Amino acid sequence: MRNDIERILIDEEVIHRRLDTMAGEIEREFPPGPLLVIILLKGALVFAADLLRRVPRVLELECLNVASYHGGTESSGTVDFLDRHFPEVKGRHVLLLDDILDTGRTLDAVKRRLLEEGAAGVHTAVLLSKDKARAAEVNADHVGFQIGDEFVVGYGLDYQGKYRNLPCVGVLKTSAIKG
Ligand code: 5GP
Ligand code: MG
Repeated sequence: MRNDIERILIDEEVIHRRLDTMAGEIEREFPPGPLLVIILLKGALVFAADLLRRVPRVLELECLNVASYHGGTESSGTVDFLDRHFPEVKGRHVLLLDDILDTGRTLDAVKRRLLEEGAAGVHTAVLLSKDKARAAEVNADHVGFQIGDEFVVGYGLDYQGKYRNLPCVGVLKTSAIKG
């Protein structure tokens, strides 16, 4: 797996140190009481597992399956909700977690849906944010790292379903990307 990586962008220890800080910020920003966390599958799985174990309060977890990339390396432009049931969010304070903010369409669509379903408030946290103009007017409340506009894998992020278990964030060699 490591052989397919051209360049490591953010190594594991750096990510973990940043998560310590982010968890503290999140803990301070919400009013006391149980918090509902919604994890966007599958990309935010690894980020969520490491971040949430650092938040010292009662949390409830829900997952949502949304698709915007459909396995390639560019956004398809539409956001599909793939689950048959949407979690009960009425009156709840929600923390929404995603792996990366790219065009912003995913976070924007999910945040809107949560508010439509009656969430009391939605805060967002992403591990990565690409430094670029967004198609959707959305910004995350908590960002782990700003990165350049390039396709990255690892720490939950995939290429064609693979590399999610890479413990760092990196850029693939062109030889590992099918043309
Ligand atoms: P957006 O809707 O903001 O354009 O894209 C969000 C989703 O696109 C993310 O949840 C992620 O699944 C995918 N995505 C965006 N940029 C990248 C990237 O550089 N690498 C990978 N693996 N996925 C990305
Ligand atoms: Mg994703």
